[in-house]
Amino acid sequence: MTNEVLKLLEQAQGVLHGHFCLTSGLHSDIYFQCAKLYQYPEITEQLGSKLAELLKDIDFDTIVAPAIGAVIIGYETAKNAHKRNLFVERKDGIMQLRRGYSLKKGEKVVIIEDVITTARTIKETIDAIKEFEPEIVAVGCIVDRTKGKTEYNIKSLLQIDPVVYEPDNCPLCKEGIPVVKPGSREEKAKA
Ligand SMILES: [Zn+2]
Repeated sequence: MTNEVLKLLEQAQGVLHGHFCLTSGLHSDIYFQCAKLYQYPEITEQLGSKLAELLKDIDFDTIVAPAIGAVIIGYETAKNAHKRNLFVERKDGIMQLRRGYSLKKGEKVVIIEDVITTARTIKETIDAIKEFEPEIVAVGCIVDRTKGKTEYNIKSLLQIDPVVYEPDNCPLCKEGIPVVKPGSREEKAKA
């Protein structure tokens, strides 16, 4: 499945090669811009269907996805898995469950993310809903760059070895290649 998913990402121009500063602050020579996927609903739907398929043996009630990046893939996964779908979003920099959404105590939740590198957003998502005391049964994503180095049970469509560097120790910086922070604005950051 991995090659097929990579092909879909490439088809949507969602795989960028160069020198990037990731959301985590780490540098890398590859960046997955899943927002590019969302230009093509048929491709996004296929990925949502594949994620739902990955989750088929997991007993859960609800998907929770962190906005903005994972809202659409969360929705597509929930649609294919026939589950309830919620999202959390940042307000004043803090991830929160808003819009009158709530969870029941013990409700079985799967967190869906687009790309996971350090899982910091996953932790923030869990923190945002913990007051409801749900049971987090799995984490699903399109691209997993963690190489298993998190505490979470991650189900992903594509595992990519994390060729990431601390900014102080980045060979691409040493070569003087300008670093790009793709994020939402595609603006260039200073190395
Ligand atoms: Zn660098």
